[in-house]
Amino acid sequence: MTALVYKSTGSWYVIKTEDGVWANARIKGKLKIAGLTSSNPIAVGDRVVLEQEPGSDNYIISGVEDRRNYINRQSPANKNQHHIIAANLDQTLLFATLKSPRTSTGFMDRFLVTAEAYHVPAIVVFNKLDLYEAHEHEVLAAMHDCYEGIGYQVMGISVATGEGLDAVKALLAGKTTLLSGHSGVGKSSFINALFPEMDLRTQEVSDWSGKGLHTTTFAEMFDLPGGGAIIDTPGIRELGLVDISRQDLSHYFPEMRDRLNDCQFNNCLHVNEPGCAIKAAVVDGDITEDRYVSYVNLLEGIQENRW
Ligand code: GDP
Ligand code: ZN
Repeated sequence: MTALVYKSTGSWYVIKTEDGVWANARIKGKLKIAGLTSSNPIAVGDRVVLEQEPGSDNYIISGVEDRRNYINRQSPANKNQHHIIAANLDQTLLFATLKSPRTSTGFMDRFLVTAEAYHVPAIVVFNKLDLYEAHEHEVLAAMHDCYEGIGYQVMGISVATGEGLDAVKALLAGKTTLLSGHSGVGKSSFINALFPEMDLRTQEVSDWSGKGLHTTTFAEMFDLPGGGAIIDTPGIRELGLVDISRQDLSHYFPEMRDRLNDCQFNNCLHVNEPGCAIKAAVVDGDITEDRYVSYVNLLEGIQENRW
């Protein structure tokens, strides 16, 4: 029998079996997962193999199916170990706002690069349209053109007025979606507006606010009425840790990826090298300056080992 993992506290898991039965499960002994150096063998979104625990309603997890993808972060216990946050994601929604608070393009680009590295398609959702004035609408239009030009879907919504919500709801149907974005951008409000029947969520989030010094936060998956699921990771607003070398960074900028073969040097970092096709594309306006600035900032971050 197999099941999906909806919640993990580290020592036990909330699972739903293929028959739709909710249960607790735990791992017995060591689960061997090839090539993994993570501190947790099982994560939310994993499909696991179960055995019934003798004499109880609980299950023992005896195996985990191959992951399509996963996101991880540095293990809180050991800097050299990864901690898997969630697995088998269809997509991630990056919530952003241009006002109260303003999401920086640096944060967005870093997020998008990380999503590329994890092979998780990202969709950008700008919330709080109701607050935008002429200036923000101009910025939004420019960002829309920039990101859609690269290939990212960009949506504008207002949870307050309901504008644009149906279109985002349609994107969630039947998919497993990770919600991301800084605190305060309206993720909880969005879920409550779209799926009022899921009112457990606000409760859970405040329980797990991460404000207490020793509070650990855990990812949790919620079924959506009508099919699909969302994964929320309270306290973790970025996609987490990923190893990207300076040489590889431009591969995760889709608009750069397509032009890399045109650089004169095949190890070009697109900063000071002559004959650089990326810099030429920036001059020509085919790559936006903002994205190039994000690239250079991220590149410096890798150099200083701050990624
Ligand atoms: P989260 O931290 O991302 O879950 O954000 P919340 O859902 O808690 O929202 C943060 C604040 O923004 C709350 O005071 C919400 O009422 C407010 N908010 C959310 N969406 C909108 C919106 O579309 N327009 C306006 N004006 N405020 C919003
Ligand atoms: Zn170059």
